[in-house]
Amino acid sequence: MQPPHAAPSRTSPLTRRSVLRGAAVAGAAAALPAVLPRGVASSAAFAAPPAPTYRTKHVIVVAFAGGVRARECIGKPSNVPNLMRIAEKGAVLPNVKAANLGHYGAALAIFTGCPDAQGIRENARGENPTIFEYLRKDAGLPAHEVWLSTTAGAQTVNFAYGTHADYGAKYGANLISTDGLFNAEFRDLVGSFGQVSVPSDAEAARVEKLAKSLDPKWTAGGKGDGLSNDPAANLRIQRYILEELRGDTSDITGPGAGDAKSIRVARNLFRLFRPKLIACVLQNADVAHGSFNSYEEVIRRNDRELGLLWDAVQSDAQLRDTTSIFVLPEFGRDASLNQRNGLDHGDGSEDLGKIFCVAAGPDFKQGKTLSAGVDAFDVCPTIAQLFGAKAPVSRGKAVKALFA
Ligand SMILES: [Zn+2]
Repeated sequence: MQPPHAAPSRTSPLTRRSVLRGAAVAGAAAALPAVLPRGVASSAAFAAPPAPTYRTKHVIVVAFAGGVRARECIGKPSNVPNLMRIAEKGAVLPNVKAANLGHYGAALAIFTGCPDAQGIRENARGENPTIFEYLRKDAGLPAHEVWLSTTAGAQTVNFAYGTHADYGAKYGANLISTDGLFNAEFRDLVGSFGQVSVPSDAEAARVEKLAKSLDPKWTAGGKGDGLSNDPAANLRIQRYILEELRGDTSDITGPGAGDAKSIRVARNLFRLFRPKLIACVLQNADVAHGSFNSYEEVIRRNDRELGLLWDAVQSDAQLRDTTSIFVLPEFGRDASLNQRNGLDHGDGSEDLGKIFCVAAGPDFKQGKTLSAGVDAFDVCPTIAQLFGAKAPVSRGKAVKALFA
């Protein structure tokens, strides 16, 4: 498997700062030119965002992906008590159509609103803009407001942005892949600096203020143009990584460990940065091909982590009443077990093609099961609508039934 992050350069003298910054944003930033053009295009392209119509100020999307049937989730609440807890505060959509486009194509459709097969080029980026790009370009959000946390894997990092000529890398999401953050090489590099200490809040605030006052790009007040984070955001990213390294996330092991880390990273990022959008793409449930039992184990573990994420939001006075969450798989799995007592995906059954979406937030109906038939790729334009942005290339429609 291709490591999604470029290793920090070994030829230049490494500072702790450059290592941390490299690991944090290299996945998305490595492919970019160091300096992005500014000027003519930026002032015209970034009109003031429209006045907010909705109470939602933050959105969390959990692509509960890897091929997960509704039957083991909303059909078996004992597997997913936390998902059901979220559903009580929001709505369950049990009639969501999912296209069988392969894991990558189907999960990508959630973010692009375009149900396109990715075919044999499935390691390549999609051609359509993602919700990250829509929010960065059309709603004018700076890079540090839009995050993607993925399990390891070459494909999932491609969710951060597509190749559309009007959008692309400079409007991409900040990317954290648990593989990049917790791989042995990175830990060794950090270890070589000795005991890592997290600066106090007061120290961090002073440094942040200083960085702001010195960096001409920050003082120019530019927003949205360029993926690069402003210096303050870079400092917060460094701090975040230090906290992660001291914390418990790097010790998660066992089946579904990648997903569990991905959700926990998303939780920590969300608490610390309070970004406008954070998406988390899971995939470990695909162990189902070989073992139904392991598949259910992954679902239960992911549900536990989802519960911790939800509780973190509920215990934050600022986030509690302003955060909307969407949880949905990319597609289901076959109706019957295969010869290995596992579950594949390809029989065209309802178990495969009809999924669920749980959505909760201040603008949504509460405690309802909504019979409306919608598509998984409607999630992208629904999020865009919450932020007053358009999703012009998307072929989905905002889910009207969801709104209170
Ligand atoms: Zn599979």
